[in-house]
Amino acid sequence: MIEWSEMHLAIRDAMRRFIEAEVVPKMKDIEHGDEPPYDVLRRMVATFGIKDMAEARFAHQIAKEKARTASGTAPTRPEEKKPRGPNPEAGNEMAMRLIPVIELCKYSPGMVTALGVSMGLTANAILSRGTIAQKERWALPLLTLDKIGAWAITEPGSGSDAFGAMKSSARRDGDGYLLSGSKTFITNGPYADTIVFICKLDEGNDAKHRKVLSFVLDRGMPGLVQSKALRKMGLHGSPTGELFLDDVRVGKDRLLGETEDVPARSEAKDTFTSERTGVAAMALGIVEQCLRLCVDYAKTRVQFGRPIGEFQLIQLKLAKMEVARMNIQNLVFRQIELAAAGRSLTLAEASACKLYAAQATMDVCIEAVQLFGGNGYMAEYQVEQLCRDAKVLQIYGGTDEIQISQIARSLMGAA
Ligand SMILES: Cc1cc2nc3c(=O)[nH]c(=O)nc-3n(C[C@H](O)[C@H](O)[C@H](O)COP(=O)(O)OP(=O)(O)OC[C@H]3O[C@@H](n4cnc5c(N)ncnc54)[C@H](O)[C@@H]3O)c2cc1C
Repeated sequence: MIEWSEMHLAIRDAMRRFIEAEVVPKMKDIEHGDEPPYDVLRRMVATFGIKDMAEARFAHQIAKEKARTASGTAPTRPEEKKPRGPNPEAGNEMAMRLIPVIELCKYSPGMVTALGVSMGLTANAILSRGTIAQKERWALPLLTLDKIGAWAITEPGSGSDAFGAMKSSARRDGDGYLLSGSKTFITNGPYADTIVFICKLDEGNDAKHRKVLSFVLDRGMPGLVQSKALRKMGLHGSPTGELFLDDVRVGKDRLLGETEDVPARSEAKDTFTSERTGVAAMALGIVEQCLRLCVDYAKTRVQFGRPIGEFQLIQLKLAKMEVARMNIQNLVFRQIELAAAGRSLTLAEASACKLYAAQATMDVCIEAVQLFGGNGYMAEYQVEQLCRDAKVLQIYGGTDEIQISQIARSLMGAA
C-alpha cells in the first residue's frame, strides 16, 4: 500500500466533517474534564455505521461458534492464533478502523484512548477468551459502545512488572471466588460499566507461581469502588481512575472462559500486542496535525521582516517532522497490508512499532511547541495540548524502556 484509496479518502473527509461539527466545539469542556467523552463517541459510532457493523460481525461470529459447538467441533480451550490467509477485505476493514483513530487523534488522543480501551482492549479480552454466554452478555454491548469498558492490570506497586508484582487476588469461596486488590491508572475506570479485572489465584502458594485469572465485573457490585477521575498532565478526553475491590463475591460465570486453565498471561500479551500496534495510527494523527499547524505558522509568523519558515533552523524542524510522518504512515500502511495478508505484528514487532512511533511523535510535538515560540506554550494554541497528550504514548501500553527490553529479548531469542 502506497497511499489511501479514493474510498478511504471519502471516509476520512466525512470523519473530518463530523469532528469539526461534534468534537471541536466541545474541546474546551473535554479539556477541562467537565464532559466525559462518551456521548460524542456514541454519536460517532452511530453516524459511521460502526455500531451496525459491530452487531453484524458479532452475530456472524457467534452463529459460527454455536454451530461448531453443536457439531462437536468447537475447541475445548481457546485456540492459538493461526495465520488466516490472504483477505483483501480484512485490509480494508483495518483501514476503516484506523482512519477514525488518525482523524480523531488530531484533536483528542484522549477520546481515542477511551474508545480503544472500551471497544478494543476490553471487548477483545472477552471475545478472545470468554465463553459464548460471556461474549453475548458482556462483549456485544462494549462493541456497540452501549456500555463502557475498562481493562485493569496496573496496580500501585505493579506497572512495568505487571505479573511479577501483582497483588490483586482471587480466593476460592464455595462455588465462586472472593476478589480483592486495587488497580490504578485505569482508563474509563470512573465510568466503566464492565471491567476486566486481572488478578492471581491465591491458593496459599508462592505468589510467583500463582495462576493469572481474568474476571468480568459490573459497575455497582458490592465491594467494588470506582474512584473519581484522577487529575493528570494531559489526555483529558480520557477519564483515568482507580479501582478498589474488597472481597467482591463472584460466581464462576464471571471467570473468563469459566476455567482456571485459561492462559490469562498470554491473553494479556495479546492485549499488549494490539495496544502497542494501535499506537502507530494515534501517532500519525498527532504528527499530521502538528505538521499542518507548523507549516501554516511558519508561513504566516513574521520575524526580522520575513516569515519564520524562511529560516533554515525552522526548515530543519519541518523537514524532520515530515520524515517522522512518512515513517509512521508507512508503519500504518504495513499494518493494513499485514491484515490483508491474514497476519498481524508479533509482540516484539508491535513493541518496535510503538517505541518508534511514540518517540518520534514526542520529538515532533516538542519541536512544534518550539516553532510556535511563546504561543506554543499557551493553551490557546493546539500544539500545547497535543504535546501534553503525546507524552502518554511513551508510558502506557508499556513504557519505552519496556519496549526496548522486549525487542532486545526477542532479538536474543528469549521472548
Ligand atoms: C493515562 C494512562 C492510562 C492508562 N490506562 C491503563 C489501563 O487502562 N489499564 C491498565 O491496566 N493500565 C493503564 N495504565 C498504566 C500503564 O500501563 C503504566 O503506567 C505503565 O505500564 C508503567 O507502569 P508504572 O506507571 O507503574 O511505571 P513503573 O513500572 O514504576 O516505571 C517507572 C520507570 O521505571 C522504568 N522501568 C521499569 N522497569 C524497568 C526495567 N526493567 N528496565 C528499565 N526501566 C524500567 C519505566 O520505564 C519508567 O520509566 C495507564 C497509564 C496512564 C498514564
